[in-house]
Amino acid sequence: MATKNRLTYSFGAGKADGHARMRDLLGGKGAGLHEMTRIGIPVPPGFTIPTEVCNYFYAHRQHYPNGLEKAVADALHKVENNLGRRFGDPVNPLLLSVRSGARESMPGMMDTVLNLGLNDHTVEGLAAQSKNPRFAYDSYRRFVQMYADVVLGLKSKDKTAANPLTQILESKKAQRNVRLDTELSADDLRELVSAYKREIKSRLGKEFPEDPYEQLWGAISAVFGSWNNDRAIAYREMYRIPHHWGTAVNVQAMVFGNLGDDCATGVTFTRDPATGEKNFYGEFLINAQGEDVVAGIRTPRAISELEQTMPKAYGELRRVCKLLEKHFREMQDIEFTIENHKLWLLQTRSGKRTGFAALRIAVDMVGERIISKHEALLRVEPDQLNQLLRPIFDLQGKQRAQREGHLLGRGLAAGPGAATGRIVFHAADAVEWHGRGERVVLCRIETSPDDIRGMDAAQGVLTARGGMTSHAALVARQMGKVCIAGCEALQIDYAARMLHVGSTELREGDWISLDGSSGEVFRGEIQTLPSEILQVLLTRSLDIRQSEISQQFMKFMKWADQTRKLGVRTNADQPDQAAIAKAFGSEGIGLCRTEHMFFQGDRIQAVREMILAEDETGRRRALAKLLPMQRQDFKGILDIMGGLPVTIRTLDPPLHEFLPKTDGEIRELAQVMGVALETLRHKVSVLQEFNPMLGHRGCRLGISYPEITEMQAQAIFEAACELRREGKNPFPEVMIPLVSSRQELHEQRIIVERVAKQTMEKFRVKVRYLIGTMIELPRACMVADEIAEEADFFSFGTNDLTQTCLGLSRDDAGKFLPSYVLQGLLPEDPFVSIDRDGVGALMQIAIAKGRRHHKGLEMGICGEHGGEPRSIEFCHQVGLDYVSCSPYRVAIAKLAAAQAALRK
Ligand code: ADP
Ligand code: MG
Ligand code: MG
Repeated sequence: MATKNRLTYSFGAGKADGHARMRDLLGGKGAGLHEMTRIGIPVPPGFTIPTEVCNYFYAHRQHYPNGLEKAVADALHKVENNLGRRFGDPVNPLLLSVRSGARESMPGMMDTVLNLGLNDHTVEGLAAQSKNPRFAYDSYRRFVQMYADVVLGLKSKDKTAANPLTQILESKKAQRNVRLDTELSADDLRELVSAYKREIKSRLGKEFPEDPYEQLWGAISAVFGSWNNDRAIAYREMYRIPHHWGTAVNVQAMVFGNLGDDCATGVTFTRDPATGEKNFYGEFLINAQGEDVVAGIRTPRAISELEQTMPKAYGELRRVCKLLEKHFREMQDIEFTIENHKLWLLQTRSGKRTGFAALRIAVDMVGERIISKHEALLRVEPDQLNQLLRPIFDLQGKQRAQREGHLLGRGLAAGPGAATGRIVFHAADAVEWHGRGERVVLCRIETSPDDIRGMDAAQGVLTARGGMTSHAALVARQMGKVCIAGCEALQIDYAARMLHVGSTELREGDWISLDGSSGEVFRGEIQTLPSEILQVLLTRSLDIRQSEISQQFMKFMKWADQTRKLGVRTNADQPDQAAIAKAFGSEGIGLCRTEHMFFQGDRIQAVREMILAEDETGRRRALAKLLPMQRQDFKGILDIMGGLPVTIRTLDPPLHEFLPKTDGEIRELAQVMGVALETLRHKVSVLQEFNPMLGHRGCRLGISYPEITEMQAQAIFEAACELRREGKNPFPEVMIPLVSSRQELHEQRIIVERVAKQTMEKFRVKVRYLIGTMIELPRACMVADEIAEEADFFSFGTNDLTQTCLGLSRDDAGKFLPSYVLQGLLPEDPFVSIDRDGVGALMQIAIAKGRRHHKGLEMGICGEHGGEPRSIEFCHQVGLDYVSCSPYRVAIAKLAAAQAALRK
C-alpha cells in the first residue's frame, strides 16, 4: 500500500477527517459517523481504519501495512486528549468499541466488540469513577463474553446447544431466581466474570488477555477477519456485494446506556420501515447496552414511551432524527444511546425497508418535495415490487380460522404478506426442507445472523422475542420475507422441536400461517386472495379509491412510463395471461408460444396424428383438425390486446416432445389412426433424437413440413381477419424461430405472405402485420445483415442464444454451473442475467448489422432475461426497442427500464 495513503481518519468534537461521500473508504458506518460529527451531532470521538487496510490485510497473508500501529496509537491519543481519559489507565480508563462497517451495510454479519480496555484493574477505576460497581461489572461481563465470542472464537458445539457463556449466565440467573440480567448484583456479575474466564481457560487453554493493547489488536484483527466469515460471505452472495470491497474498522470511545435508569439504548427509524408511513418509529431499552435491542434479549419498548421517561432526551432525539432525514434526504435507521439523560448518536444509515415501504416512502418524499421523481424511481429495487403483488390471506378464511380457535397469538407485523408453511426450528432444517420442495416457516426464539440462509429458504419467519428492530425483523424486511417478530405467547423448545401456546402444542412439520401485515399467527393453512393491487387492476374486485397502495403504485408506474425508453411487452400464451399483462400496462405480446396450446385437452391427439402421419395428405388431415382450435386461441389473444402488437412464434420444439410415451398411449393412437401398432412404434423410435436441442426443431420443421407453417399462418390471419370484420384492429407479428440463414427465413416468409394475402382477400379486409425472426443462434448474429433483408423485426431469444453461445444445455447445467459461479469461473448464472461479454457481444453484432441494412428494423428480446433488471439495463444500453417478460414482471421491467434510462 502506498505510504501516502492515510491509515486512520479521526472524528470527534465537531471535526472529522472524512465525510458522507467517503463510503468506499470509510464504510457506510464510518462515513455516517464522520458526517454526523461534522454537522454538529453528538457522536463519541474515535477513528476509522479504512477498507484499503482490510484489502491489504488479505493480500498480505493477514499482515498490516507499515506504520499502522503508530497511526492507531496517534489516533487513540487524540481521543484520549479529547476526553481526558487514558486507555488502560487504572484510575480513569478510556473504554472503546471496535466496530466493523462495509460500504453497504451488512447488518449483524460482521463483528463488534464493546467495552474494550477493561481488565481486573481498570474495572476498579471504572467502578470508583462512576460510583457504580454494578455498572462496571456489567460492562466487564459483557466485554468478556463478546470478546470470547468474536475474538477468541468460543462457540457452542452444535445448533441446539446454547453458547457456553450464555449457559453460565442463565444458570446464574436461575441461582439468583431472577429473569433479567439487569436484576443481577455487582457481586453476581463479578463472579460471572471469573466463571467466564475459567471457562475460557479450560476450553481454549489460554488466559483471557489483560493487556488493553493486546485486546485492541485482537479486536481489530477479528473485525477484519469477520469480513470473510461464513455468514458475511453468504450475505454478500445474496446481495451481490463484491468480495473485494473489504470492511473498515471504527474504533470509538464508549458511551454507556447501562449506567442506571436514566440511561438507555435504542434504534429508531425516521419512517415506518414495514409500511413506509411517516411515523417516528423505534424501540429502546432502559439500562442496557449495544446489541440488547437487536438481539432480542429483552423485548424492547416503543419509542413513544421514552417521551414520558426521559422527555429531554426524547425531544433531542426527535430533533436529531428530523435533521438527519433532511440532511441525507432519505429515511434513516439510527442507533443511539442515552447516558445520564444525554443523547449520543452511534450510527445513521439509509434504512432497509420492505417493498411496501420503499414505494410509499419514495412517493411520499416526492410529495413532500424532498426528492425528485427521478430520484424516487431510483429508490425502489425493481424486484421489491414483487412483494406488492404477493397473495394476502382471504379475510373469510382468517375469520373462520379464528372461530375455530386457530389463532395462536399476535406479534409485531414486521414483514407484510401472507405465509403458510410447515414448522421448522432451525435454519439448517429450513434450507434442507426447502431443498426437497417443502414450504416451511422458520420459528425461532430469536434469529441471529447465522440464520440468513434459512430465512431465505423459508416462506416466513416467526420469532417469540425481539422487536421491530430485532435482527429477524431487519433481515426479513430486506429480503422481503413475511415476518412476525416478538410473538410472546409462543414457547419454543428447540430440543424437543415443539412450540406451545397455552395448551396448544405444535411440532416440527405441522402447518402454521403468518399474516405479516396484521401480526396474527394461526395454526393450519389459510386460503389466500390476490394482492390489493391485483384486486384493483385485474379482478377489479376493489375500488382504487379504497386502496392507498394501488394509488401509490399507479402514480409511481406513471413516472416510470414517462422516463423509460424501452417498451415492455409480455410473454403470454393464453388469453388469461395476456389479460394480466394488459392490466399491468404491457405494451404488447413479445412472445406467444403456439406449441403450448398443443398440449391442452384432446388437441394432443391431433398433434400426434400430424407428426406420425405417413405423408402430406395425412398431415393435412390432422392439421385441419388443429386449425380451428389455433384460430380460436389467436383470436382470444389478439382481441384482448386490442391494437397492440402480438408476436406469435411458429412451432418451435422438437416433434418428439409431443410423442406418445407409454405403450398404452401408442396403442390408443394406432387405433385412432388406423395403422398397425408395430408401424407406429417404429415411427416413434425413428423420431427420437440424440440432442433434440440442436435437432429437428424451429424453422427446420416448417422447412421440412411447409404445411405446418401454412396452417399456423392461416389460423393467425383468419383470426385477425375475423376481428377486423368485427371492427377491431389486431396486429399480429409472425415470428420464425431458430433461423440461421437468410434463405430459411426467405422460404418461411413466402409461405406466410401467401397465406396472409389469400386470407385477407377471402375476408375482404386488410390487417396490419409483420414477419420477423428470432435471433437465437450465433450464426444468425453473424449474418444478421442478410437476415435483416427478409425481416421486419428481430427478437432475441436469449435462452437459446446463451445455450448455443456457451455450448451449455440449460437442462444439464445444474450439475456444475452453481459451482462455476461459486468458484468465480463465471461471474453469475448466464441463464439468469445476460452474459454481456459473450451473448451480449453477439447481440451487439446482430443489432449493428441488422440496423445498418434495414433502417427501422424493430428489435426486442423475448428470452427469460427480458424480466431481469440487470439484463434490462443492458438491453437499454444496446438500444433495443423493447423487452418482453412474464406477465407478473411487467411492472418490474418497466421500473428497471426507467432506472436504466436514468443511470446512463
Ligand atoms: P452492527 O453493524 O451490527 O449494527 P455496531 O457496530 O453498530 O454493529 O454495534 C452494535 C451496537 O453496539 C450499536 O448499535 C450500539 O448500540 C453499540 N455500540 C457500538 N459502539 C458503541 C459505543 N461507542 N458506545 C456505546 N455503544 C456502542
Ligand atoms: Mg449498528
Ligand atoms: Mg428458442
